[in-house]
Amino acid sequence: MSRPTVAIINRQALRDNLALADSLAPASKSMPMVKANAYGHGALEVCKALQNAPAFGVACIEEAVELRSAGIEQPILLLEGTFSADEVQVAAENNLWLMVENEAQKQAVLTSSSTQAVKVWLGIDTGMHRLGFQPNDISQHYQALRASSKVAKTIVLATHFACADDLENPATTEQTNSFHRCLSLNNISAGENTEISLANSAAILGWPETHRNWQRPGYMIYGNSPFSVAHENADQLTPVMTFQSAVISLRQVNVGEPVGYTANWKAPRPSTIATVTVGYGDGYPRQAPNGTPVLINGVRCPLVGRVSMDMITVDVTDLNQVAIGDKATLWGPDLPVNEVAEHCDTIGYELLTRMPSRVPRNYVN
Ligand SMILES: *Cc1c(COP(=O)(O)O)cnc(C)c1O
Repeated sequence: MSRPTVAIINRQALRDNLALADSLAPASKSMPMVKANAYGHGALEVCKALQNAPAFGVACIEEAVELRSAGIEQPILLLEGTFSADEVQVAAENNLWLMVENEAQKQAVLTSSSTQAVKVWLGIDTGMHRLGFQPNDISQHYQALRASSKVAKTIVLATHFACADDLENPATTEQTNSFHRCLSLNNISAGENTEISLANSAAILGWPETHRNWQRPGYMIYGNSPFSVAHENADQLTPVMTFQSAVISLRQVNVGEPVGYTANWKAPRPSTIATVTVGYGDGYPRQAPNGTPVLINGVRCPLVGRVSMDMITVDVTDLNQVAIGDKATLWGPDLPVNEVAEHCDTIGYELLTRMPSRVPRNYVN
């Protein structure tokens, strides 16, 4: 007795994908990114499944405190640092690590009333121009933090890549060079008490020269490739989520008869239409056009007609057998979310992340 629409989350795949990140950079520590409810997969369950991970990354203190309150014990890095000064003390008390990306965040740490030191990651803007200090004057910030009793002994210097998913793009090498130029100009050397973190998923998989003390895998942990082309490392990932539903109605339509809202699709031949109980209210993208693949009993069939809030319609004319209750897969190991996203002019990251709580997550393995 329940709607058959579910996201099945394969915990073994999570562990395998993290193991791949570790094996590609054996000298680095991998900190899984679990922001935005672990890219839609359920942050608490993902952290529990990855209990050997040395730390986790989230976007804000609310996400971190929720995990801490639920019993997650590893350090948790706040990737955007603090939004207000009072967060520093909460962070220090809860073993949350702070990205420090600007003067206000730095001052909040230095003037905090906390008696416990907080671990700081110092963000350097090497070319993405979104967050981080300018490379030229990093020394003063680093020294001020280093000298403060409010700051834990080991400081991590970090940057973030804008274009690492494009393996032809020289920007990643330029950013890496700029990072190291910044360190040498400022007489900072990595080593004891100074660690480095550069790589996101794409850099872990495709840019080995960016591997340093810490890597920050996100999308790859969930088993999807950050690249739009085949890649020997990325192709070893296993998609973690299977977004699944079922056929709830079948009908024949004649040539010229429309299907769905706005009647934007009309049958070009006598057709069998399967109605599946999943829609944009479940995170299936409304912009999915006619022809977007849906697996019915494991066979690719084209979406036809507009996506409704709670239903979609699929052309199953070419299937030999289809019955009410048959399985429909929206994405998963046999239909990459990247492929669905491409039809919809977006990226798999968005489709996963915006999946609403109406879709139950079923954890297996
Ligand atoms: C989200 C995030 C990552 C992970 O990016 P992926 O492309 O999902 O691997 C890494 N670093 C920072 C700073 C992030 O915000």
